[in-house]
Amino acid sequence: MRARARAITLLIAALLATPTAPAAALSTAVHPAPAPSDAAVAIRGRASLPSLTTRLQGLLPGVAEAQARALTEQTAALARATRIARREAAARASRARALAAIRHLAVPAYGRIAEGFGARGLWSSRHTGIDIDAPYWSTVHSVVAGVVVKSVYDRAYGNLVVVRGHGVDIWYAHMARRDVRVGQRVRFDQGLGRVGCTGRCFGPHLHLEVRVHDMPTDPAAFLWGPHRGIPGPVPAWARHGVLTTLSGA
Ligand SMILES: [Zn+2]
Repeated sequence: MRARARAITLLIAALLATPTAPAAALSTAVHPAPAPSDAAVAIRGRASLPSLTTRLQGLLPGVAEAQARALTEQTAALARATRIARREAAARASRARALAAIRHLAVPAYGRIAEGFGARGLWSSRHTGIDIDAPYWSTVHSVVAGVVVKSVYDRAYGNLVVVRGHGVDIWYAHMARRDVRVGQRVRFDQGLGRVGCTGRCFGPHLHLEVRVHDMPTDPAAFLWGPHRGIPGPVPAWARHGVLTTLSGA
């Protein structure tokens, strides 16, 4: 026991006797201190820590203002993008609804309605039908199931086909070509000919006329009934140029 106690005492004495160099001196000896940089000199030379703090505090409101401005701009841009996306989605939905609806409706040819019913015309004081600006050679579809009662070339109407169905006569005029003959039964939506510009005409279009007891009436009701090929009231969206929208399709 005594020998062990002595050994411990010796060890403590040895440890206390070891000279300890300061860490900084040791570091300097191994790595010489680097020369102070220009910036460090400038800071040391011109500015104390409190003055730097004051300068930074002076800059802070400007930084905060710029950040706030950037945030406002980003928020505005996001709101703009959201508005545009919503508008586009609404337009897509509206177009999809119109397309879904038109499948149940009678459309003789796709195009803008260039001239409505009853308008004053060059050839008559009152337009007896509607003019649809459909592309040349596009198909003219029958808006009712019925029988062809006329398929002729007329000086005014050009290539003219008249289909009788639902008690009315539907006139398709100015066609480039007639594809049906008198007496032929035609289905709803069947092709009757091609859009053209024959007779009294300035440019390719379909003149569609609806006659009840030989009196021209507004064809609109015969185009947009609630059931395919059955005359009905014109839906509100159709009055606002759905054919114009569809003509781009
Ligand atoms: Zn016309």
